[in-house]
Amino acid sequence: MNEKIWLSSPHMGENEFKYVKEAFDTNWIAPLGPHVDGFERDLASYLGEGVHVAALSSGTAALHLALIILGVQAGDEVICQSMTFSASANPIAYQGAIPVFVDSEEDTWNMSPEFLKAAIQDRIVKGKKPKAIIVVHLYGMPAQMDKIMAIADKYEIPVVEDAAEALGSSYKGQKLGTFGAMSILSFNGNKIITTSGGGALVSKNEEWIRKSRFLATQARDAAPHYQHSQIGYNYRMSNICAGIGRGQMEVLPQRVEKRRSNYSFYKEAFAEIDAIQFADEPSADYYSNRWLSTILVESGGGMTREDIRLHLEKDNIETRPLWKPMHLQPIFADAPFYGDGTSERLFENGLCLPSGSNLTDENLHRVISELKSLYKSAKV
Ligand SMILES: *Cc1c(COP(=O)(O)O)cnc(C)c1O
Repeated sequence: MNEKIWLSSPHMGENEFKYVKEAFDTNWIAPLGPHVDGFERDLASYLGEGVHVAALSSGTAALHLALIILGVQAGDEVICQSMTFSASANPIAYQGAIPVFVDSEEDTWNMSPEFLKAAIQDRIVKGKKPKAIIVVHLYGMPAQMDKIMAIADKYEIPVVEDAAEALGSSYKGQKLGTFGAMSILSFNGNKIITTSGGGALVSKNEEWIRKSRFLATQARDAAPHYQHSQIGYNYRMSNICAGIGRGQMEVLPQRVEKRRSNYSFYKEAFAEIDAIQFADEPSADYYSNRWLSTILVESGGGMTREDIRLHLEKDNIETRPLWKPMHLQPIFADAPFYGDGTSERLFENGLCLPSGSNLTDENLHRVISELKSLYKSAKV
C-alpha cells in the first residue's frame, strides 16, 4: 500500500514543543496561564484592527458564546450560510433558536448577498427580524464582505464571521476575522494552524471579549466562594494547547504560502483537463489562505466527483466532497431556506484535494499522476 496522503494534517514548526515543555516546567497545566495570554496577544496583533481575542476550547464554543453575547434566545431566528460545516449552525440550535439558511453565490461559494437581502426582508414580513447573520469564508475564500456588511448595517443586524477556515486570508487588505461584530477562529487538527483542538472569539468590543472569558469559565461572580448569577460554560483553552498555538503563530505566514502554492501547482497541472475547474479569487480584493484546494468536476469530462474520489481512495489518497449544505441535512430539514440551488450544485460536483502544508512534491505529483491517468483511461 502506498503511503497515505491526507487531506489536511497537522504540521508542527520548530518551537511548539518548547512552549509545551515550558508549560510543564512551570506547572501551568490548566485552562489558564501565560501561554493562553500570550496566544491571545499573538492573534490580536496578527489580525490587527484593534481586535481583542479570547482563546477557547473550540471554534464551536466560540460561536456559541458569540450568539449568547448577542442575546440570541429560544425562538429567535439567526441567518446562516447554508454551505458550511455543521459547526457553523449547531450553536443556533444550542440556544433553541431557528436557523434561516441562505444559499451561496458562484464567485466565492459563500453567502449570496442577494439571497441574504431577500431572506431578511421576508423574515421581517413574516414577523421576526433575524438576531444575527453568520457568514462563512469557506476553504479560506473571503465572502463578498462589502455587500454583506452593507446589507447587515442597513437592517442593523450584527454579523458573526465564521473564519474557522480563513486565518491568514484577507479582503481588501484587511484580515478576515476583523469584519464582523464578532468572529470565530478554529485550531482543530485539520485547520491551517492547530492547537490539537481549540478556537478563539475575536471582537473590537473589549467588553464582549471580557464577557466571553467570564462565561467560558463557569460565570463565577466576584466572591471568595463560588457564586453564580448566570449559566456558565467550560470553554476556556488549556495552557498546553495555547503553547502549541504560540509556536504555530510563528509559522503561520509560511503555512499560508505553502497552501497557496499547492493550489497553484494543482491548477497548472490540470490546465489541460477542461472538465476540472478551479475557484479563482474573483479579483485582487480577495486573498485566500487556500486552506483546502478545491475543484469542480464537470460531467462533460466523463468522470464524476465520486469517480475521482473513489479512484484516489484506492491509492490511499484522501479527498472529500465539498460541505453538504445545511438546508439538505436531516437535522435542519424544517429550517427556512433562501436560494436557487447554487450550493447544491457545488456540493454535487466539488471535491477537496489533499492540501496540507506538509505535502511533499512527491505527494503532489502522485495526486496529479493518479488523476491524469484516470482521465486518460476514460478517453479510451
Ligand atoms: C472547523 C470549523 C468550525 C468549528 O471549529 P471547531 O474548532 O472544530 O469547533 C466551524 N466552522 C467551520 C466553517 C469550520 O470549518
